[in-house]
Amino acid sequence: MYDVRFYKGNYKWRQIQANRDKCIAYIEHHFNATGNTTTGYSVVIVGYNSSGTSKAWGRWYANHIGQEFRIPVAGKGGILIGGFNGRGNGNVKHTNMPAILLEPMFVSNPLQAKIVRSEEGQFRLAKVLADSIIEFFPKGGKIAFSVGHKYKTSRPRDRGASVNGGGSEADYAEIVMEKAKYILENYEPVVNKPIIEDEDIIDNEVRIIKNGKEIWSNTDLDEDDEIVWDEENRTLYLNTE
Ligand SMILES: [Zn+2]
Repeated sequence: MYDVRFYKGNYKWRQIQANRDKCIAYIEHHFNATGNTTTGYSVVIVGYNSSGTSKAWGRWYANHIGQEFRIPVAGKGGILIGGFNGRGNGNVKHTNMPAILLEPMFVSNPLQAKIVRSEEGQFRLAKVLADSIIEFFPKGGKIAFSVGHKYKTSRPRDRGASVNGGGSEADYAEIVMEKAKYILENYEPVVNKPIIEDEDIIDNEVRIIKNGKEIWSNTDLDEDDEIVWDEENRTLYLNTE
């Protein structure tokens, strides 16, 4: 359903390539950092020119990160339109598709850095990202991933902020995105399962058993007939043609 591609090169180039490939969604992953070790909130940057979908998607992601990790959510309902005084706008503004720039946590905050460095934390971050894509792009398609800082031709050694406890922003962003790619590419939508699907149950038979004793049965149902148990009304419907 989903085909996730990583785009490299300078930020504008990545976006142009994703447009060319007709991707349906674009995500750039960062982590935030500041001098104050207690600062720690979730926020998403969308472009000045962003669509309603980008804004709704960004809010969904920022707020679900807030709920998942019990951390504050900043910006306007979770999003900063046009970035931090314009910083971040260029990372998404060249896209022809909904695009968001993620800043889920602060790697300068020891508690949040610990989550980012742990495999469990990385998986939970990846799950929220994958879930947001499934929620907003349920039909599937090509998804463009961009690891913030890393793989730029202009500054190939840039890895973003240092993570409290070791490592760099970009390397952890890449790990989370790799996990999200795995979740998305192995995702299968849940189809409506039949109510009765035990192999031991014969297709054309319905029985009511009270305390181990059969008190009613119908054995002439066709396998195309509909058997629906309405839990709310405590009623079993047998719809035969
Ligand atoms: Zn960054």
